[in-house]
Amino acid sequence: MPNEHSYTYMQESACTPTTDIEGYVPFPDDRCQEYVDEGYWRNLTFHDVLDRAATETPEQTAVIGPHRELTYEELAENSRQLAISLATEAGLEENDFVVFQFPNSSEFLEAFFACSRIGVIPVMLLPRHREAEARHVLDLTEAKAVFAAGDRYQLGFDHVSLLDDVGDEFDHLTHRFAVVDDEETLPEGWTSFDAARDGDLGSEPSVDLEDIDVNPSNPGVLLLSGGTTGMPKGIPRTYNDYVFQWEYMAKVANVQSDWVAFPSVPIGHNASLNCVIGAAIWAGATIAVEPVLKPDALMSLIERHGGSYSLPIPTQLIDILEHPDLEEYDLSSLEVLVSGGQKVRPKAVYEFVDRWDIGFCNIFGMAEGPLICTRPEDDVDDQAHTVGRPIAPDADEVRIVDEAREEEVTRGDAGELSVRGPGFFTGYLRHAEENDENFDDDGWFYTEDVLALNDDGNYEVYGRLKDTIIRGGENIYAPGLEDVIIEHEKVENVAVIGIPDDRLGERVGAYIELVDGYDSLTVDEMGEYLKGQGIAVFKRPERIEIVNELPRTEVGKISKADLRDDIVKRLESE
Ligand code: AMP
Repeated sequence: MPNEHSYTYMQESACTPTTDIEGYVPFPDDRCQEYVDEGYWRNLTFHDVLDRAATETPEQTAVIGPHRELTYEELAENSRQLAISLATEAGLEENDFVVFQFPNSSEFLEAFFACSRIGVIPVMLLPRHREAEARHVLDLTEAKAVFAAGDRYQLGFDHVSLLDDVGDEFDHLTHRFAVVDDEETLPEGWTSFDAARDGDLGSEPSVDLEDIDVNPSNPGVLLLSGGTTGMPKGIPRTYNDYVFQWEYMAKVANVQSDWVAFPSVPIGHNASLNCVIGAAIWAGATIAVEPVLKPDALMSLIERHGGSYSLPIPTQLIDILEHPDLEEYDLSSLEVLVSGGQKVRPKAVYEFVDRWDIGFCNIFGMAEGPLICTRPEDDVDDQAHTVGRPIAPDADEVRIVDEAREEEVTRGDAGELSVRGPGFFTGYLRHAEENDENFDDDGWFYTEDVLALNDDGNYEVYGRLKDTIIRGGENIYAPGLEDVIIEHEKVENVAVIGIPDDRLGERVGAYIELVDGYDSLTVDEMGEYLKGQGIAVFKRPERIEIVNELPRTEVGKISKADLRDDIVKRLESE
């Protein structure tokens, strides 16, 4: 079935933001009006989208696993009951923040839509975040409640203890909910998630959901920026701007209501929440969830449930292709894969398309908003080498600008990506300094990512501005160099960084994981190889560090921040 719906939700007037959250930058009223007039914003909250599917296809399975299956009607109803409990027991109301630290699970979805019903803003702490990040977001948001995974999920880490300890430092945190099978395992002061969801807490409801009118132009979720530089920043997304992207992502990937979408990275990361969960709910599709995001668990999910659509990061694509038991899994149900967050290796795209005949959306994505991707029907060469076009080409305002952030560069040249539009955020929460630096007076956001718009209309990613090594005045884009180095027979994985240097500013350094069976790779060997590939002398690594495993961020991307710290420590000790 196509993902068009039989009726529209256009409202005559714009909903102008009404939030009074201190340190939040709302969309300007004129832009709200414009986006509604143009039909980009439909004035729908997250639960409106869910309720639409629950009305149109109540018996359709909304979520499978890991412990339960829920139809759309059940998911909608459970989230209603939980919303009432949250308002009644915890006194939560519009514009309050609550911190989520769920694994990929049906409970996440119940809680996510419950929050929407009462205008409460969930904060997307990820399972791999620890004390420092938890403390930071509790402090930043003054959250009144937390949700954590208890004994139902064997995640190898005690999230209840983490949030219990850190939570004690904050008076504003008054309520704690955990997903547990055995309530006896909970510390004092915690409430069972199931009891709240099932309305078993005993109090008379203090609210009638019919009376709560959530403003879709207010923030509906607080995403967290990747931890590549210091503490995560809070990225507020309104219902309107996020739902706009759900709709366009569903259209671009052609998500169908009989598909099974599955998040491959943590469900609270934008890659999953927006491109997989949001697109699936928009299309009324089924979502299969698996808390353990290892390749065999994901392949088994695809085989068991007929998984058709997901957004794995590039490393996961490689892990699947190189899995020793790959042949034992039937992955033929795959229809469309989106991948990005890091440069995708072209070889992986060709292999996936060849093997499983899938549509490949190579995506450049940021939690702040930009989603630029190839389409399933594009030529595979474009899917392998470019990130295609913005998901809403008519609505998304996208420019590639020069270093001064003043002029657009000549088409084909690399420059900084700058964006504005109905699907992009308007500022980090309580971070005036960062907002001053990266927004201009007209509302354009400067992403610090370097891209180029090719003559054929597809964008190509070069890397972060900070991922550009400047050696004696020469610019070297690390990801481009990594693409060549990774093709060396001894190289399993590589990260190229700048090594601070008194004379040249920076020199090129490479951290390398070797292919099994090799135990060394010298600068000279690499230099010879790169010479053979026609790579200029100044780009060739002057130092190579062999490591067993490259450090990763909470979603599994290579953490260059850790490598930069590491090289500084090594230099100091030498
Ligand atoms: P996050 O904050 O986790 O959403 O990460 C966003 C960042 O990931 C972007 O600002 C880019 O630096 C990087 N990124 C996303 N997609 C790609 C891609 N296809 N190629 C290279 N880098 C990417």
